Amino acid sequence: MALLTVVTAVTATACGGGGVVGGAPGTSGVRDPYFPKAGNGGYDVTHYALDLAYDPGTHHLTGTATLTARATRDLSALNLDLKGLDVGKVTVDGVSARRYRDGQELTVRPREGIDRGARFRVTVRYSGAPVTVTDPDGSEEGWLRTADGALALGQPTGSMAWFPGNHHPSDKATYTLAVTVPKGLRAVSNGEPAGEETKGDRTTYRWRTTEPMASYLATLALGRYDVERTTTAGGLPVYTAVDPDQAKASRAVLARLGEVVEWGERTFGPYPFSSTGAIVERPGDAGYALETQNRPVFPGAPSTELLVHEIAHQWYGDSVTPKTWRDMWLNEGFATYATWLWEEEHGGDTAQRTFDALYAGTYFDEAGSDEELWSFPPARPPDAAHISGVPVYQRGAMVLHKIRQTVGDGPFRALLKGWAEKYRHGNADTDDFTAYVEESAPRKDFGGIWADWLYGEGKPRRP
Ligand SMILES: [Zn+2]
Repeated sequence: MALLTVVTAVTATACGGGGVVGGAPGTSGVRDPYFPKAGNGGYDVTHYALDLAYDPGTHHLTGTATLTARATRDLSALNLDLKGLDVGKVTVDGVSARRYRDGQELTVRPREGIDRGARFRVTVRYSGAPVTVTDPDGSEEGWLRTADGALALGQPTGSMAWFPGNHHPSDKATYTLAVTVPKGLRAVSNGEPAGEETKGDRTTYRWRTTEPMASYLATLALGRYDVERTTTAGGLPVYTAVDPDQAKASRAVLARLGEVVEWGERTFGPYPFSSTGAIVERPGDAGYALETQNRPVFPGAPSTELLVHEIAHQWYGDSVTPKTWRDMWLNEGFATYATWLWEEEHGGDTAQRTFDALYAGTYFDEAGSDEELWSFPPARPPDAAHISGVPVYQRGAMVLHKIRQTVGDGPFRALLKGWAEKYRHGNADTDDFTAYVEESAPRKDFGGIWADWLYGEGKPRRP
């Protein structure tokens, strides 16, 4: 993500459920330190099949979500996260199930319990006017209406506004989408296109994501787009969808997409997904750019730096995904450092110079950003409103630069690639990272970096 944050309050709610069938109910959250109700315990989703229809004219969404999952304990009931929308019939393995709603929790109680280890399918039919979710930091996501359609964005919790799921980054799954829109509009999502079909005055677009994806990285862009399908020099399929209003302003930067991806491959290792691209909406259609898997979303034509940032996330964030929202610096520190490296290798400032400017307080134009940089340690944001704060980005990148200073350029390069390789398509947290760095360079001492830069309060005494 790349975002200017506005700070507001945090809310947290609690609810429960009871069980009578064999087993116990799955939990209504996975104990995320900042979003306790996000995700659900007791099962692991392996695949989402979403069949959606939306008409921007009436702002009405109808959907059928079929989740294929595996029980991680004996379950008498399980929860899904869904915000707004009316839930119709729910089935588990084709048999009608009871359902209850309490805030964002949709509890599904199957007629019979589900045994630990069993694979099962939950199908939820739903409809209504999808909502926009306001994050603890004041940014907006979920279902955003645009001039010619809609845009679904989900970091951190917006995906529950358009499909029921296990909405926490720790549960990644593959996806298939079929999206029906009025003829003349287009539906663009993650992964690769898998066909389109027009019947009467409606067109259905199919998309398929075959590499695991965290639900916050799922996107759906509905509207009129200039679409281009090409390949990079290395043969990777590229799919870009640009609002015609932004086509001219986007042309030069998107022409460099292949170059950016291939620079990423040299710098971070093999590209983790089977296609790349970009979705460009109009400025104001969203408050932030997001590294949605395969093709990042940009509200307005991106700068090269922003394109590098979001493409770098494909390795750091999308492929190596944080275990909890506390580990956001593993996304943003890496994506920020990627832009420092890009600058360094393309005639701009060296990473050392960027680091020095940050430390000296001469980096930011905006008043207040300098104090904000030292306001909390990157690995310990004080609350949910700060997971996208300045320290998570710039001070996170400074942690990586301190590691580079300690191990030297060659080993640091190997470390960037090794981290992306070790946790490819998985999840990792800050402890995994510090352990990885220490194992990679056993003769170096990182204790001071962790204590002062990663976890320490205030500005470290020495740069
Ligand atoms: Zn980012």
